Amino acid sequence: METYQTQEAVIEEIKISGTRVACIGPAGEALIPYALILSDHGRVAGRTGMGALMGSKNLKAVAVKGSGSIPVHDPDQYNLMRSQVNRELRDDPISQVARELGTAGVGDYFDYLMVMPKRYYTQGKSTGELKISGVNIKNSINVGLSACHACVIACGRISDLGDGKKRKGAEFETLAGFGPNLLINDPIRITEFGEMCDRHGLDSISMSNVIGLAMLLYDLGLINANDTDGIEINWGDAAVVEELILKTVKREDFGRYLALGARDFARQFNAEERAIQVNGLEAAYHDPRGASGMGLVYATSPRGACHNQSDYYLVEVGQVYSSLGLTYQSPRGSVEKTTNVVRHQDWRTVFNSLVMCFFANVPPDNLVDLINTSVGLEISVDQMLKIGERGWNLKRVINNRLGLTSANDTLPKGFTKPYDDDDSDYVPDFPAMMQEYYRLRGWDEVSGIPGKEKLAELDLHWVEKDLEGLVKVIKS
Ligand code: SF4
Repeated sequence: METYQTQEAVIEEIKISGTRVACIGPAGEALIPYALILSDHGRVAGRTGMGALMGSKNLKAVAVKGSGSIPVHDPDQYNLMRSQVNRELRDDPISQVARELGTAGVGDYFDYLMVMPKRYYTQGKSTGELKISGVNIKNSINVGLSACHACVIACGRISDLGDGKKRKGAEFETLAGFGPNLLINDPIRITEFGEMCDRHGLDSISMSNVIGLAMLLYDLGLINANDTDGIEINWGDAAVVEELILKTVKREDFGRYLALGARDFARQFNAEERAIQVNGLEAAYHDPRGASGMGLVYATSPRGACHNQSDYYLVEVGQVYSSLGLTYQSPRGSVEKTTNVVRHQDWRTVFNSLVMCFFANVPPDNLVDLINTSVGLEISVDQMLKIGERGWNLKRVINNRLGLTSANDTLPKGFTKPYDDDDSDYVPDFPAMMQEYYRLRGWDEVSGIPGKEKLAELDLHWVEKDLEGLVKVIKS
Protein backbone atom coordinates (compact mmCIF):
# COMPACT_ATOMS: atom_id res chain seq x y z
CA MET A 1 0.00 0.00 0.00
CA GLU A 2 1.40 3.42 -0.91
CA THR A 3 2.10 6.04 1.74
CA TYR A 4 -0.94 8.34 1.58
CA GLN A 5 -3.29 5.32 1.41
CA THR A 6 -1.48 3.86 4.40
CA GLN A 7 -2.02 6.99 6.47
CA GLU A 8 -5.74 7.01 5.63
CA ALA A 9 -6.13 3.29 6.33
CA VAL A 10 -4.40 3.49 9.73
CA ILE A 11 -6.45 6.51 10.81
CA GLU A 12 -9.63 4.83 9.59
CA GLU A 13 -8.80 1.68 11.51
CA ILE A 14 -7.97 3.21 14.88
CA LYS A 15 -10.66 5.91 14.73
CA ILE A 16 -8.99 8.41 17.07
CA SER A 17 -9.25 11.97 15.82
CA GLY A 18 -6.06 13.99 15.67
CA THR A 19 -3.92 10.90 15.05
CA ARG A 20 -0.76 11.43 12.99
CA VAL A 21 0.94 8.67 11.04
CA ALA A 22 4.51 8.09 9.90
CA CYS A 23 4.78 5.25 7.41
CA ILE A 24 6.70 3.60 4.61
CA GLY A 25 5.62 2.76 1.08
CA PRO A 26 6.36 -0.22 -1.18
CA ALA A 27 10.01 0.91 -1.47
CA GLY A 28 10.50 0.53 2.28
CA GLU A 29 8.83 -2.87 2.18
CA ALA A 30 11.21 -3.85 -0.65
CA LEU A 31 14.17 -2.65 1.49
CA ILE A 32 15.40 -0.25 -1.18
CA PRO A 33 18.36 1.50 0.46
CA TYR A 34 16.97 4.98 -0.22
CA ALA A 35 13.43 4.33 0.99
CA LEU A 36 11.87 7.15 3.02
CA ILE A 37 9.47 7.59 5.93
CA LEU A 38 6.53 9.89 5.14
CA SER A 39 4.14 11.69 7.44
CA ASP A 40 1.30 14.20 7.17
CA HIS A 41 0.90 16.02 3.86
CA GLY A 42 4.18 14.75 2.42
CA ARG A 43 6.78 15.61 5.06
CA VAL A 44 9.54 13.05 4.74
CA ALA A 45 12.59 11.66 6.45
CA GLY A 46 14.12 11.09 3.06
CA ARG A 47 17.81 10.47 3.41
CA THR A 48 19.80 7.35 4.34
CA GLY A 49 17.08 4.74 3.87
CA MET A 50 15.28 4.90 7.19
CA GLY A 51 12.24 3.49 5.33
CA ALA A 52 14.24 0.35 4.56
CA LEU A 53 15.14 0.12 8.25
CA MET A 54 11.44 0.14 9.14
CA GLY A 55 10.77 -2.35 6.38
CA SER A 56 13.47 -4.66 7.71
CA LYS A 57 11.58 -4.75 11.00
CA ASN A 58 8.24 -5.38 9.29
CA LEU A 59 7.13 -2.00 10.65
CA LYS A 60 4.77 -0.37 8.17
CA ALA A 61 3.52 2.60 10.17
CA VAL A 62 3.55 4.33 13.54
CA ALA A 63 0.45 6.24 14.64
CA VAL A 64 0.64 8.84 17.39
CA LYS A 65 -1.90 10.91 19.23
CA GLY A 66 -0.35 13.43 21.54
CA SER A 67 -1.74 14.04 25.01
CA GLY A 68 -0.55 15.90 28.05
CA SER A 69 1.80 18.86 27.91
CA ILE A 70 5.49 19.59 27.78
CA PRO A 71 6.76 21.25 30.95
CA VAL A 72 8.68 24.50 30.47
CA HIS A 73 10.91 26.03 33.17
CA ASP A 74 9.59 29.60 32.83
CA PRO A 75 6.40 29.48 30.72
CA ASP A 76 5.59 33.20 30.84
CA GLN A 77 9.03 34.31 29.77
CA TYR A 78 9.23 31.49 27.24
CA ASN A 79 5.94 32.44 25.57
CA LEU A 80 6.95 36.10 25.44
CA MET A 81 10.27 35.23 23.82
CA ARG A 82 8.72 32.72 21.46
CA SER A 83 6.29 35.35 20.10
CA GLN A 84 9.11 37.82 19.63
CA VAL A 85 11.35 35.25 17.93
CA ASN A 86 8.55 34.14 15.63
CA ARG A 87 7.95 37.74 14.55
CA GLU A 88 11.65 38.17 13.78
CA LEU A 89 11.75 34.85 12.01
CA ARG A 90 8.85 35.85 9.78
CA ASP A 91 10.65 39.09 8.86
CA ASP A 92 13.99 37.39 8.09
CA PRO A 93 14.80 37.82 4.35
CA ILE A 94 15.44 34.10 3.74
CA SER A 95 12.20 33.22 5.55
CA GLN A 96 10.38 35.66 3.31
CA VAL A 97 11.81 34.07 0.17
CA ALA A 98 10.87 30.61 1.48
CA ARG A 99 7.33 31.75 2.25
CA GLU A 100 6.81 33.70 -0.97
CA LEU A 101 8.45 31.29 -3.42
CA GLY A 102 9.04 28.04 -1.52
CA THR A 103 12.48 26.49 -1.35
CA ALA A 104 12.57 26.80 -5.16
CA GLY A 105 13.00 30.52 -4.49
CA VAL A 106 16.75 29.98 -4.28
CA GLY A 107 16.78 28.25 -7.67
CA ASP A 108 17.59 31.27 -9.84
CA TYR A 109 20.45 32.45 -7.65
CA PHE A 110 21.91 28.96 -7.24
CA ASP A 111 21.66 28.55 -11.00
CA TYR A 112 23.54 31.81 -11.52
CA LEU A 113 26.25 30.83 -9.01
CA MET A 114 26.55 27.34 -10.56
CA VAL A 115 25.63 25.84 -7.19
CA MET A 116 22.79 23.91 -8.87
CA PRO A 117 24.37 21.22 -11.09
CA LYS A 118 22.96 20.12 -14.44
CA ARG A 119 23.24 16.98 -16.57
CA TYR A 120 24.29 14.75 -13.69
CA TYR A 121 26.79 17.19 -12.20
CA THR A 122 28.68 17.73 -15.47
CA GLN A 123 27.41 21.23 -16.28
CA GLY A 124 26.96 24.37 -14.21
CA LYS A 125 25.12 26.70 -16.57
CA SER A 126 21.54 26.74 -17.76
CA THR A 127 20.76 27.27 -21.39
CA GLY A 128 17.47 29.10 -21.83
CA GLU A 129 14.70 29.88 -19.37
CA LEU A 130 14.77 28.03 -16.03
CA LYS A 131 11.15 26.94 -15.66
CA ILE A 132 11.68 25.42 -12.22
CA SER A 133 12.42 28.82 -10.65
CA GLY A 134 10.32 29.78 -7.66
CA VAL A 135 8.85 32.72 -9.54
CA ASN A 136 7.78 30.63 -12.51
CA ILE A 137 6.21 28.01 -10.27
CA LYS A 138 4.40 30.69 -8.29
CA ASN A 139 3.00 32.12 -11.53
CA SER A 140 2.05 28.77 -13.04
CA ILE A 141 1.11 25.76 -10.90
CA ASN A 142 1.19 27.05 -7.31
CA VAL A 143 -2.22 27.41 -5.61
CA GLY A 144 -1.31 27.58 -1.93
CA LEU A 145 1.13 27.15 0.92
CA SER A 146 1.63 24.39 3.46
CA ALA A 147 3.52 24.32 6.73
CA CYS A 148 4.84 21.94 9.33
CA HIS A 149 3.20 22.22 12.75
CA ALA A 150 3.16 25.81 14.06
CA CYS A 151 5.72 27.11 11.54
CA VAL A 152 5.47 30.80 10.64
CA ILE A 153 7.47 30.34 7.43
CA ALA A 154 5.36 27.76 5.53
CA CYS A 155 7.89 26.86 2.84
CA GLY A 156 5.67 24.03 1.53
CA ARG A 157 3.77 24.49 -1.74
CA ILE A 158 0.43 23.22 -2.96
CA SER A 159 0.22 22.72 -6.70
CA ASP A 160 -2.52 22.19 -9.25
CA LEU A 161 -1.15 20.56 -12.38
CA GLY A 162 -4.21 21.42 -14.45
CA ASP A 163 -6.48 18.58 -13.29
CA GLY A 164 -8.08 20.60 -10.49
CA LYS A 165 -6.49 18.34 -7.88
CA LYS A 166 -4.48 19.92 -5.08
CA ARG A 167 -1.22 18.10 -4.35
CA LYS A 168 2.13 18.65 -2.69
CA GLY A 169 4.33 20.96 -4.74
CA ALA A 170 7.91 19.95 -5.36
CA GLU A 171 10.65 21.55 -3.23
CA PHE A 172 14.12 22.58 -4.37
CA GLU A 173 15.90 19.23 -4.24
CA THR A 174 13.18 17.43 -6.17
CA LEU A 175 12.99 20.24 -8.73
CA ALA A 176 16.76 20.31 -9.21
CA GLY A 177 17.11 16.51 -9.19
CA PHE A 178 14.39 15.65 -11.69
CA GLY A 179 14.87 18.96 -13.52
CA PRO A 180 18.27 20.33 -14.62
CA ASN A 181 20.00 17.17 -13.39
CA LEU A 182 18.12 15.17 -16.06
CA LEU A 183 17.71 18.09 -18.50
CA ILE A 184 13.96 18.19 -17.92
CA ASN A 185 12.51 21.71 -17.79
CA ASP A 186 8.86 20.93 -17.06
CA PRO A 187 7.61 21.71 -13.52
CA ILE A 188 4.43 19.68 -14.07
CA ARG A 189 6.27 16.45 -14.89
CA ILE A 190 8.81 17.07 -12.12
CA THR A 191 6.02 17.59 -9.57
CA GLU A 192 4.51 14.28 -10.72
CA PHE A 193 7.85 12.52 -10.25
CA GLY A 194 8.13 13.97 -6.74
CA GLU A 195 4.65 12.71 -5.95
CA MET A 196 5.49 9.25 -7.34
CA CYS A 197 8.54 9.09 -5.08
CA ASP A 198 6.47 10.12 -2.05
CA ARG A 199 3.71 7.63 -2.78
CA HIS A 200 6.07 4.72 -3.40
CA GLY A 201 8.30 5.81 -0.52
CA LEU A 202 11.52 6.72 -2.35
CA ASP A 203 13.89 9.56 -1.48
CA SER A 204 13.61 11.94 -4.45
CA ILE A 205 17.26 13.10 -4.13
CA SER A 206 18.63 9.57 -4.39
CA MET A 207 16.13 8.43 -7.03
CA SER A 208 16.87 11.38 -9.32
CA ASN A 209 20.61 10.97 -8.70
CA VAL A 210 20.50 7.30 -9.70
CA ILE A 211 18.45 8.03 -12.85
CA GLY A 212 20.87 10.86 -13.74
CA LEU A 213 23.74 8.41 -13.37
CA ALA A 214 21.96 5.95 -15.68
CA MET A 215 21.51 8.73 -18.27
CA LEU A 216 25.20 9.64 -18.05
CA LEU A 217 26.41 6.05 -18.34
CA TYR A 218 24.10 5.49 -21.30
CA ASP A 219 25.32 8.67 -22.96
CA LEU A 220 28.96 7.63 -22.45
CA GLY A 221 28.30 4.16 -23.82
CA LEU A 222 29.21 2.53 -20.49
CA ILE A 223 25.80 0.85 -20.51
CA ASN A 224 23.62 0.12 -23.52
CA ALA A 225 20.20 -1.25 -24.39
CA ASN A 226 21.39 -4.80 -23.65
CA ASP A 227 21.98 -3.75 -20.04
CA THR A 228 18.76 -1.74 -19.72
CA ASP A 229 16.40 -4.41 -21.02
CA GLY A 230 15.88 -2.44 -24.19
CA ILE A 231 15.09 0.94 -22.64
CA GLU A 232 16.80 3.90 -24.32
CA ILE A 233 17.81 6.20 -21.49
CA ASN A 234 18.34 9.62 -23.01
CA TRP A 235 18.66 13.01 -21.36
CA GLY A 236 15.38 14.86 -20.93
CA ASP A 237 13.11 11.89 -21.61
CA ALA A 238 10.35 12.25 -18.99
CA ALA A 239 8.51 9.09 -20.08
CA VAL A 240 11.63 7.03 -19.39
CA VAL A 241 12.03 8.65 -15.95
CA GLU A 242 8.52 7.55 -15.02
CA GLU A 243 9.20 4.02 -16.27
CA LEU A 244 12.46 3.80 -14.32
CA ILE A 245 10.87 4.93 -11.04
CA LEU A 246 8.22 2.22 -11.38
CA LYS A 247 10.77 -0.44 -12.30
CA THR A 248 13.00 0.57 -9.38
CA VAL A 249 10.33 0.20 -6.75
CA LYS A 250 9.53 -3.29 -8.07
CA ARG A 251 13.23 -4.15 -8.57
CA GLU A 252 12.10 -5.15 -12.06
CA ASP A 253 14.43 -5.58 -15.08
CA PHE A 254 16.94 -2.71 -15.21
CA GLY A 255 15.27 -1.31 -12.08
CA ARG A 256 17.06 -3.99 -10.05
CA TYR A 257 20.30 -2.08 -10.64
CA LEU A 258 18.83 1.33 -9.88
CA ALA A 259 17.41 -0.05 -6.64
CA LEU A 260 20.97 -0.62 -5.39
CA GLY A 261 21.72 3.09 -5.08
CA ALA A 262 24.29 5.05 -7.13
CA ARG A 263 27.50 3.52 -5.77
CA ASP A 264 26.49 -0.11 -6.06
CA PHE A 265 24.67 0.40 -9.36
CA ALA A 266 27.81 1.96 -10.86
CA ARG A 267 29.97 -0.85 -9.45
CA GLN A 268 27.96 -3.37 -11.46
CA PHE A 269 29.25 -1.68 -14.61
CA ASN A 270 32.79 -0.84 -13.44
CA ALA A 271 31.89 2.83 -13.36
CA GLU A 272 32.04 3.58 -9.63
CA GLU A 273 33.99 6.80 -10.11
CA ARG A 274 31.06 8.26 -12.10
CA ALA A 275 28.64 7.98 -9.17
CA ILE A 276 28.17 11.26 -7.31
CA GLN A 277 27.98 9.91 -3.78
CA VAL A 278 30.00 9.80 -0.58
CA ASN A 279 30.08 6.67 1.55
CA GLY A 280 27.06 5.34 -0.29
CA LEU A 281 24.78 8.37 0.10
CA GLU A 282 23.88 10.11 -3.15
CA ALA A 283 24.81 13.83 -3.09
CA ALA A 284 22.20 16.56 -2.78
CA TYR A 285 21.98 19.32 -5.40
CA HIS A 286 24.40 21.87 -3.92
CA ASP A 287 27.58 21.50 -5.92
CA PRO A 288 30.99 22.33 -4.36
CA ARG A 289 32.09 23.89 -7.66
CA GLY A 290 29.60 26.70 -6.97
CA ALA A 291 29.72 26.62 -3.16
CA SER A 292 33.11 25.19 -2.19
CA GLY A 293 32.30 24.71 1.51
CA MET A 294 29.87 21.98 0.50
CA GLY A 295 32.85 19.83 -0.52
CA LEU A 296 33.99 19.66 3.08
CA VAL A 297 30.42 19.15 4.25
CA TYR A 298 29.83 16.19 1.96
CA ALA A 299 33.23 14.60 2.61
CA THR A 300 33.06 14.77 6.40
CA SER A 301 29.36 14.40 7.18
CA PRO A 302 28.70 11.41 9.45
CA ARG A 303 26.23 10.02 6.92
CA GLY A 304 27.69 10.64 3.46
CA ALA A 305 26.99 13.45 0.99
CA CYS A 306 24.28 15.02 3.11
CA HIS A 307 23.15 18.66 3.09
CA ASN A 308 21.19 18.07 6.30
CA GLN A 309 24.29 17.94 8.46
CA SER A 310 25.24 21.47 7.38
CA ASP A 311 23.42 23.65 4.87
CA TYR A 312 26.63 25.59 4.35
CA TYR A 313 25.39 26.72 0.93
CA LEU A 314 23.29 29.32 2.75
CA VAL A 315 26.38 30.69 4.50
CA GLU A 316 27.96 30.93 1.04
CA VAL A 317 25.16 33.27 -0.04
CA GLY A 318 25.24 35.48 3.05
CA GLN A 319 23.62 33.77 6.04
CA VAL A 320 26.55 34.69 8.26
CA TYR A 321 26.09 34.94 12.04
CA SER A 322 28.98 36.75 13.67
CA SER A 323 27.96 35.40 17.10
CA LEU A 324 28.93 31.94 15.79
CA GLY A 325 32.29 33.32 14.68
CA LEU A 326 31.33 33.04 11.00
CA THR A 327 32.77 35.47 8.48
CA TYR A 328 31.73 35.98 4.89
CA GLN A 329 33.90 34.12 2.35
CA SER A 330 33.53 33.94 -1.41
CA PRO A 331 31.40 30.95 -2.54
CA ARG A 332 34.40 29.82 -4.57
CA GLY A 333 36.89 30.41 -1.78
CA SER A 334 39.25 27.79 -0.47
CA VAL A 335 41.06 26.79 2.69
CA GLU A 336 40.23 30.08 4.47
CA LYS A 337 36.60 29.00 4.94
CA THR A 338 37.41 25.77 6.79
CA THR A 339 36.94 27.38 10.21
CA ASN A 340 33.52 28.53 9.08
CA VAL A 341 32.52 25.05 7.96
CA VAL A 342 33.62 23.48 11.24
CA ARG A 343 31.65 26.01 13.28
CA HIS A 344 28.60 25.64 11.07
CA GLN A 345 28.66 21.84 11.38
CA ASP A 346 28.83 22.19 15.16
CA TRP A 347 25.94 24.65 15.18
CA ARG A 348 23.78 22.46 12.95
CA THR A 349 24.52 19.52 15.24
CA VAL A 350 22.74 21.56 17.92
CA PHE A 351 19.82 22.11 15.51
CA ASN A 352 19.61 18.41 14.70
CA SER A 353 19.73 17.50 18.39
CA LEU A 354 16.84 19.89 18.99
CA VAL A 355 15.02 18.53 15.90
CA MET A 356 14.82 22.08 14.53
CA CYS A 357 14.31 22.98 10.89
CA PHE A 358 17.40 24.56 9.27
CA PHE A 359 15.16 27.17 7.63
CA ALA A 360 14.01 28.40 11.05
CA ASN A 361 17.03 30.62 11.44
CA VAL A 362 16.43 32.07 14.82
CA PRO A 363 19.53 34.18 15.60
CA PRO A 364 21.92 32.14 17.81
CA ASP A 365 21.61 34.40 20.88
CA ASN A 366 17.83 34.18 20.77
CA LEU A 367 17.84 30.43 20.25
CA VAL A 368 20.12 29.90 23.23
CA ASP A 369 17.92 32.22 25.34
CA LEU A 370 14.88 30.15 24.38
CA ILE A 371 16.62 26.92 25.35
CA ASN A 372 17.79 28.38 28.65
CA THR A 373 14.31 29.64 29.48
CA SER A 374 12.68 26.34 28.58
CA VAL A 375 14.98 24.13 30.65
CA GLY A 376 16.30 26.50 33.32
CA LEU A 377 19.96 26.71 32.33
CA GLU A 378 22.39 29.54 31.65
CA ILE A 379 24.33 28.35 28.65
CA SER A 380 26.17 30.78 26.35
CA VAL A 381 26.33 30.53 22.55
CA ASP A 382 29.97 29.41 22.81
CA GLN A 383 29.05 26.68 25.26
CA MET A 384 26.27 25.58 22.94
CA LEU A 385 28.73 25.41 20.06
CA LYS A 386 30.94 23.21 22.23
CA ILE A 387 27.99 20.90 22.85
CA GLY A 388 27.53 20.73 19.08
CA GLU A 389 31.21 19.96 18.61
CA ARG A 390 30.93 17.19 21.17
CA GLY A 391 27.99 15.71 19.29
CA TRP A 392 29.88 15.90 15.98
CA ASN A 393 32.89 14.14 17.49
CA LEU A 394 30.76 11.51 19.17
CA LYS A 395 29.20 10.65 15.82
CA ARG A 396 32.70 10.54 14.37
CA VAL A 397 33.98 8.00 16.88
CA ILE A 398 30.89 5.84 16.39
CA ASN A 399 31.73 5.80 12.68
CA ASN A 400 35.40 5.10 13.48
CA ARG A 401 34.36 2.08 15.50
CA LEU A 402 32.32 0.95 12.51
CA GLY A 403 35.47 1.11 10.36
CA LEU A 404 35.49 4.65 8.94
CA THR A 405 38.94 6.22 8.46
CA SER A 406 40.26 9.32 6.69
CA ALA A 407 40.11 7.27 3.47
CA ASN A 408 36.33 7.69 3.66
CA ASP A 409 36.60 11.51 3.79
CA THR A 410 36.60 11.86 0.04
CA LEU A 411 34.67 13.48 -2.77
CA PRO A 412 33.50 11.72 -5.92
CA LYS A 413 35.73 12.34 -8.92
CA GLY A 414 33.00 14.41 -10.59
CA PHE A 415 33.39 17.12 -7.92
CA THR A 416 37.17 17.29 -8.31
CA LYS A 417 37.20 18.33 -11.96
CA PRO A 418 35.67 21.47 -13.49
CA TYR A 419 32.20 21.58 -14.98
CA ASP A 420 32.36 20.81 -18.72
CA ASP A 421 30.89 24.25 -19.49
CA ASP A 422 32.93 26.36 -17.06
CA ASP A 423 35.68 28.27 -18.86
CA SER A 424 37.28 29.27 -15.56
CA ASP A 425 38.23 25.61 -14.89
CA TYR A 426 37.50 26.18 -11.21
CA VAL A 427 37.62 23.34 -8.68
CA PRO A 428 37.90 23.78 -4.92
CA ASP A 429 41.33 23.06 -3.43
CA PHE A 430 39.90 20.07 -1.62
CA PRO A 431 43.18 18.46 -0.39
CA ALA A 432 44.26 21.71 1.30
CA MET A 433 40.82 22.19 2.82
CA MET A 434 40.82 18.66 4.23
CA GLN A 435 44.30 19.10 5.71
CA GLU A 436 43.14 22.26 7.47
CA TYR A 437 39.93 20.53 8.52
CA TYR A 438 41.81 17.75 10.36
CA ARG A 439 44.02 20.34 12.04
CA LEU A 440 41.06 22.39 13.25
CA ARG A 441 39.13 19.32 14.35
CA GLY A 442 42.11 17.82 16.17
CA TRP A 443 41.69 14.59 14.20
CA ASP A 444 44.52 12.30 13.08
CA GLU A 445 45.13 12.74 9.35
CA VAL A 446 45.77 9.06 8.69
CA SER A 447 43.28 7.29 10.91
CA GLY A 448 40.72 10.11 10.85
CA ILE A 449 40.15 9.48 14.56
CA PRO A 450 39.82 12.37 17.06
CA GLY A 451 43.05 12.82 19.02
CA LYS A 452 43.34 12.29 22.76
CA GLU A 453 43.55 16.00 23.48
CA LYS A 454 40.38 16.72 21.56
CA LEU A 455 38.52 13.89 23.27
CA ALA A 456 39.64 15.16 26.69
CA GLU A 457 38.65 18.73 25.82
CA LEU A 458 35.16 17.50 24.95
CA ASP A 459 34.86 15.24 27.99
CA LEU A 460 34.87 12.23 25.70
CA HIS A 461 37.94 10.57 27.21
CA TRP A 462 35.78 7.55 28.03
CA VAL A 463 35.69 6.52 24.36
CA GLU A 464 39.50 6.34 24.14
CA LYS A 465 39.72 2.72 25.19
CA ASP A 466 37.55 1.76 22.19
CA LEU A 467 39.73 3.69 19.78
CA GLU A 468 43.27 2.88 20.85
CA GLY A 469 43.40 -0.49 19.13
CA LEU A 470 41.85 0.99 16.00
CA VAL A 471 44.51 3.70 15.64
CA LYS A 472 47.30 1.10 15.88
CA VAL A 473 45.65 -1.19 13.31
CA ILE A 474 45.06 1.63 10.82
CA LYS A 475 48.57 3.05 11.19
CA SER A 476 50.20 -0.35 10.78
S1 SF4 B 1 9.38 23.90 9.62
FE1 SF4 B 1 10.88 24.21 7.97
S2 SF4 B 1 10.32 22.71 6.39
FE2 SF4 B 1 8.53 22.96 7.75
S3 SF4 B 1 7.27 24.55 6.77
FE3 SF4 B 1 8.61 25.55 8.27
S4 SF4 B 1 10.39 26.23 7.09
FE4 SF4 B 1 9.34 24.68 5.86
